[in-house]
Amino acid sequence: MTVLGATGSIGRSTLDVIGRHPERYRLHALTAHRSRETLRDQCLAHRPDIAVLGTEDDAAWLRAALSDAGLDTEVRAGEAALAEVAGSRDSDVVMAAIMGAAGLMPTLAAVRAGKRVLLANKEALVMSGALFMDAVDRHGAVLLPIDSEHNAIYQCLPTEHRGGLTRHGVTQLLLTASGGPFRGWSQAQLDEVTPEQACAHPNWSMGRKISVDSATLMNKGLELIEACWLFDARPEQIQVVVHPQSVIHSMAAYSDGSVIAQMGNPDMRTPIAHGLAWPERIDAGVAPLDLFAVARLDFEAPDESRFPCLRLAREAMAAGGTAPATLNAANEVAVAAFLEGRLKFAQIPALVAVVCEACEVQSAHTLEAVLAADATARRVAERELSRFTS
Ligand code: NAD
Ligand code: MG
Repeated sequence: MTVLGATGSIGRSTLDVIGRHPERYRLHALTAHRSRETLRDQCLAHRPDIAVLGTEDDAAWLRAALSDAGLDTEVRAGEAALAEVAGSRDSDVVMAAIMGAAGLMPTLAAVRAGKRVLLANKEALVMSGALFMDAVDRHGAVLLPIDSEHNAIYQCLPTEHRGGLTRHGVTQLLLTASGGPFRGWSQAQLDEVTPEQACAHPNWSMGRKISVDSATLMNKGLELIEACWLFDARPEQIQVVVHPQSVIHSMAAYSDGSVIAQMGNPDMRTPIAHGLAWPERIDAGVAPLDLFAVARLDFEAPDESRFPCLRLAREAMAAGGTAPATLNAANEVAVAAFLEGRLKFAQIPALVAVVCEACEVQSAHTLEAVLAADATARRVAERELSRFTS
């Protein structure tokens, strides 16, 4: 098996689950962007055949560190190496846990090589939806959603669910959202949010980018698009339900009135273990759910006026073509600018909206078109950013 983005939050949780089942999984490759120390420690603990880092400098450092420790792990660098290990014959399972658009090419490489792909990297699917799902079908890849909501829906649907939800008696997908750390905050309070506040999620511990996305609700918007592609759903078949306890991870409603929910403690090791072992079940190291400690489950409607990102994502999905890739790229620039102190929290949706307005929607049937839309949106976002900050 290969873990793309091994040093991140999902990558580390994946290695935790794998480490509980040494007899089941053999690690072929681990990859990271810059975190060379963490990757070194992971190589020492898990002894993969190959390790990949972003630059040749970091790779040289890791090569020396591992050889000093007596390991013969091969160390490579760069994007080509990333795509190569993702599609390598020496591994049949790939965890796609790189953050953002950077994960698109390696994740697609794994899909095109017909792997079992455990998809955490939602941005890759949001950017290239039609192309991505087409490649899954064409190359016989097995796509298992790791995003907790989508993993939950996957568990609530019949095993064979492609070809439209209504065919299987499903009337609606209920996508739960914690509401983020600022649920119920006033606009004035939202204006003053700092990166530290945005990255402190009440229920989940995650990477910084997805933490900010959870706080703006863009994460739920990206997840809505992700769910449309994964489950052949139309945006209007998906209802977002704010559920602050994060115990129900999502639900499927059927025509006979049944609503099936998947529940558990908010710990990503559960969906990761599900994807790793599917269709079997393995221990994930997650504590059993104590319903008496949970005591109650609350539900409310999302507030799209204070958190417009959800609406922007719905509009992008409805516009189709390259619109979701544009939305995603604009959001990545906005979030990075917020984390660097160049943009206010409340300006994130405003910047995304301006970029989505400015960029023309094109057909997204080729990878070139998707990558071009991504590049254009980034350029426009950077240009608009200077106006927001001046
Ligand atoms: P993270 O920031 O903690 O880790 C990202 C990983 O990707 C790191 O290993 C990093 O080295 C690597 N990476 C970053 N930029 C890269 C680049 N340009 N090239 C190659 N590698 C690069 O992120 P995370 O929270 O683990 O999230 C990873 C993905 O999983 C995201 O797409 C996120 O939306 C999704 N996801 C995360 C969670 C969660 O609980 N953390 C839940 C659902 C989905
Ligand atoms: Mg999620």
